[in-house]
Amino acid sequence: MVDDIDLASQNEEAFRQHLIANHREQTLPITGRCYYCEAPAEGNFCCKECREDWEKRKYFDSQRRIE
Ligand SMILES: [Zn+2]
Repeated sequence: MVDDIDLASQNEEAFRQHLIANHREQTLPITGRCYYCEAPAEGNFCCKECREDWEKRKYFDSQRRIE
């Protein structure tokens, strides 16, 4: 059983590296709602925290598929 906190900090580091290596603008259709929390938003996200969390979730999901 892997320590959850250790895993999280490892993933956090890997995610930062991923952002640096793959820095690019994403084009997502505007739905009028935040992609992460579904609050009404003018862009894809209601705040930068949601964008970051969404990117993080997407990244972790993609890592999971590879394994
Ligand atoms: Zn949001």
